[in-house]
Amino acid sequence: MATLFLSRYLVPVTSAPIEDGGLLVREGRMVGVGRRKELTAAFSGAAVVDFGDAILLPPLVNAHTHLELTHFPNWARRSGQGESPASFVDWILHVIRVKRGVDVELYRPSLAAGIAAALASGTGAIGDVLSYFPARQAYVNTPLRGHLYLEILGREPAMGRKALARIGELLDEKRAGQLKLGIAPHAPYSVSEEYLEHIYDFARRRQVPTSLHLAESREETSFVRDSSGPMKEQLYPFVGWQGLVPPPARRSPVAFVEACGGLASSGLLVHGVQVDAADAQRMAKAGSTLVCCPRSNARLGVGKAPVELYRQVGVPLALGTDSLASCDSLSVWDEMAFAHRWFEGRLTPSELLAMATINGARALGVAAEQGELKAGLGCNFQVLKPAALPEFNNLETFLCSPGRSAEVSALFLDAWDVLQKN
Ligand SMILES: [Zn+2]
Repeated sequence: MATLFLSRYLVPVTSAPIEDGGLLVREGRMVGVGRRKELTAAFSGAAVVDFGDAILLPPLVNAHTHLELTHFPNWARRSGQGESPASFVDWILHVIRVKRGVDVELYRPSLAAGIAAALASGTGAIGDVLSYFPARQAYVNTPLRGHLYLEILGREPAMGRKALARIGELLDEKRAGQLKLGIAPHAPYSVSEEYLEHIYDFARRRQVPTSLHLAESREETSFVRDSSGPMKEQLYPFVGWQGLVPPPARRSPVAFVEACGGLASSGLLVHGVQVDAADAQRMAKAGSTLVCCPRSNARLGVGKAPVELYRQVGVPLALGTDSLASCDSLSVWDEMAFAHRWFEGRLTPSELLAMATINGARALGVAAEQGELKAGLGCNFQVLKPAALPEFNNLETFLCSPGRSAEVSALFLDAWDVLQKN
């Protein structure tokens, strides 16, 4: 039995948008994408679902977030820590203070709320980072795909060995729901060199994906390069690491991570704001994907990722919202609209659409299922119903404008409308 989904506009992402488009699905797979007229004539026996004045396109991919922190704004308000931190390191201290006051039992409902918010805004795959591992049960029976990265940080090798042994046991489970389990070493300033090498070696042997916050702030660069700055003066004493400040690495955070074996095509690098041309070359050579989180970068005042440099050297870019500890929503639609404005044309609407779909899907190993509309993929798509459709030739710019998130009216994942608004 085949079903033909029709929509006034159809955006396959990897090929040109189609006016009066159709998507033919048979046995849970896409078998045809094209003009309504031609598909209707060729498959006259197919059941028809006509979405009318709507836009049909792939689900979005949120390649970096921490859904366990979805209730963070409430936690911060309740703890009296609601004020905006003045610097990047102040923000880290703020997050640590708030997290210390939260009962770990609250992480699971917070994660469940994040999953619901992601689905409601048309997200079909996710690169999620988890610090409280028992909360992973929230993913059981959810239709989201992608990676769930178990987060580790620390500077003491003995504790590190213990943590890795525990993670090794969890990795035997392979998946949380449909998400493949991976490892997220937190950042080059919160994991020791020896530990980082050990983690990457472990990830390679176990063939699990990794994700790392890298080159996010100037403070990170001064700490890694010179062992100086607010990370040494404020962060390390705050967490009791004052005796564990490493010697200066005399290299950039990207070069430092490369030397630890941490640049690889199976690893996501997140932020990549404070990089130079040599760093971008290192990432390109390794085949790494960079996940940009523009709203988080703006909120924390760390600068803008050099997207033109990445384009020039061929580093694929994906998009992430990061957590509600540093941005206002978990909607990738909102992230695209913000990025379009913030990068002032340095990212075109079609580049942003690719970042938010196919590039993220490839980086999270789900491109055989979703990320574009193409014969062979699974039945994964979303439908936007705006109050008024834009002109056809203005479609991609419209998709990168504010307001799209609330227009998501259906999200088909594995052939089921998981929002069930229709
Ligand atoms: Zn993050």
